[in-house]
Amino acid sequence: MSEVLRQARRIVVKVGSSLVTNEGRGVDAEAIGNWCRQLAALAQQGREVIMVSSGAIAEGMKRLGWTARPKELHELQAAAAVGQMGLAQMYESKLREQGMGSAQVLLTHADLADRERYLNARSTLLTLLTLKVIPVINENDTVVTDEIKFGDNDTLGALVANLVEADALVILTDQRGLYSADPRKNPDARFIDEAAAGTPELEQMAGGAGSSIGRGGMITKILAAKRAAGSGASTVIAYGREDDVLLRLAQGESIGTALIAATPKLAARKQWMADHLQLRGGVVVDAGAVAKLREEAKSLLPIGVVEVQGEFHRGDVIAVRDQAGAEVARGLANYSSAEARLIMRKPSSQIEVLLGYVNEPELIDRANLVLA
Ligand code: GLU
Repeated sequence: MSEVLRQARRIVVKVGSSLVTNEGRGVDAEAIGNWCRQLAALAQQGREVIMVSSGAIAEGMKRLGWTARPKELHELQAAAAVGQMGLAQMYESKLREQGMGSAQVLLTHADLADRERYLNARSTLLTLLTLKVIPVINENDTVVTDEIKFGDNDTLGALVANLVEADALVILTDQRGLYSADPRKNPDARFIDEAAAGTPELEQMAGGAGSSIGRGGMITKILAAKRAAGSGASTVIAYGREDDVLLRLAQGESIGTALIAATPKLAARKQWMADHLQLRGGVVVDAGAVAKLREEAKSLLPIGVVEVQGEFHRGDVIAVRDQAGAEVARGLANYSSAEARLIMRKPSSQIEVLLGYVNEPELIDRANLVLA
């Protein structure tokens, strides 16, 4: 358990509405200040952190003077749009107090299922991390209702962990973690310190829904842990008001429930590519590029490409073949086939002149490539 966060370099932290807004009383400055102080300290340690925060609806309801959660989805969406202003403002000022830059990112599940948007979101987030800015993510509730209906951003947290290949997902909640049964009803309920993410019994233990403030409950957290494990990230579910919870977890203290990913990151990535993506086209590369991919574990640059085969879009999976036709690797293309034809055999420094813009200097980033 202690290893989950101690060794994690890239961490996604998710906090739910009831914690963020102190059970719906409005954005909790003190609580957010505490998490921001800890996020800044983790960044100081050289870790990369991303915050996924809900609370927009709860804050919006307060600003609109609504005491009961409306049933109509469009009213909830409107409340989210109002509340998001307060949420972003609070994270911005609390992170700035800690000397950290922040960025607001609003995402939807559909964005991450679309290959091109997936790549765009991924490059934006990774760029923010390189700039030492902490992304604060919420669902874009104006255009979708997934997390409003069910989840309170638990699923979004896991999707973000998949997207950036985080080492760990921390779900901060108003409960200590997972019990084998509901402790309010069953005196024999046992606290689960650690289990393998994706174990079917966990879903039975987690039972039903959450409070009226958040929509999550334990079941969406268990399912989020399973999803995060798909890209090799382990999950910790812990009480968000525990003193220095993030820092203590990072020091290896055993707090909350740890749900361990069975598959290491690289193997998980290969599996994900194999399961989810269809081959669209390919490129033939020269011997130098083959050596760089195989022996030096480098990305594929346009200069090594001698032929572009078939038609593909940015974000499609393409095959990388050697000049004898053997498959060397597969990966997500940063450029379409039409763009690739224009930039092949050219140094990456010329991409901007040739296309008028640059997505990335690589045709396939190493992190999005698996060797055959
Ligand atoms: N994205 C929503 C929010 O931030 C989800 C939470 C909810 O359904 O209450 O408010």
